[in-house]
Amino acid sequence: MRFENKVAVVTGGSRGIGRAICLELARQGASIVLCYAGNEQAAGETAEACRAAGARVTCVRCDVSDAQQVKDMMKAAVREYGRIDVLVNNAGVTRDGFLLMMRESDYDAVLDTNLKGTFLCIKNVVHTMMKQNYGRIVNVSSVTGLRGNPGQANYAASKAGVIGLTKAAAKELAMKNITVNAVAPGFIETDMTAAMHSAAKAAALAVIPAGRLGQAQEVARAIAFLASDEAAYITGQVLAIDGGMSM
Ligand code: NAP
Repeated sequence: MRFENKVAVVTGGSRGIGRAICLELARQGASIVLCYAGNEQAAGETAEACRAAGARVTCVRCDVSDAQQVKDMMKAAVREYGRIDVLVNNAGVTRDGFLLMMRESDYDAVLDTNLKGTFLCIKNVVHTMMKQNYGRIVNVSSVTGLRGNPGQANYAASKAGVIGLTKAAAKELAMKNITVNAVAPGFIETDMTAAMHSAAKAAALAVIPAGRLGQAQEVARAIAFLASDEAAYITGQVLAIDGGMSM
């Protein structure tokens, strides 16, 4: 198994893509620290499924935009498991609206979770990974961060920021055997896309060469590869997982 004796922290692990990531890493032998914002039931269901796959799992309610909560989560993870090999920064939110109507609070909320949350998690895991001389960090960006999308200025800014953060961190940490990569999913079937209007969904489908939305598991498998030993010489990259949409 790829992740035998490895410990992975997955933010936003309770639902959607994060749930699929936890399950994929669990099936491949990792112990999982599952971070969620507030949906205890969903976190518990994901944890049960990971345990059924044979993994050790710890659920941590942690708002990734809160520096103290992130610090406490990483400390607890090291206390319990002794190390952190993999960090997947997957937690994310949307607060869509056209620029003219977008409230400052909606801009801040999205930037705080998606971008600052990613920064805080990296900052608080790096010391542990440096001591180990080993680490794999995968950040979840979005096709919207590469291309922009009307009605998502806040989200696009946060996800483009994640790409810049990924590249800067990759350059800083490469000598310590820590890789930092990003994935840029297109439209993936989760609660986030279930909230889209049918007209917006039809418009999205029209520009996806594969002709369908993606599945969370398809993102999880790519992340598992980037988080594995086999991907040791890949860093600072952005992998689009979008059925060809961003070509
Ligand atoms: P989702 O189904 O809405 O799930 C969001 C997850 O993030 C939940 O586990 C939620 O926890 C957690 N979360 C939200 N705010 C948080 C916070 N402040 N602190 C900690 N955890 C928080 O979303 P998804 O569709 O799986 O998306 C996952 C990631 O992929 C996001 O970064 C998203 O931007 C990105 N993405 C998604 C798509 C897509 O089409 N779905 C496309 C491109 C990129 P609770 O369950 O406790 O609320």
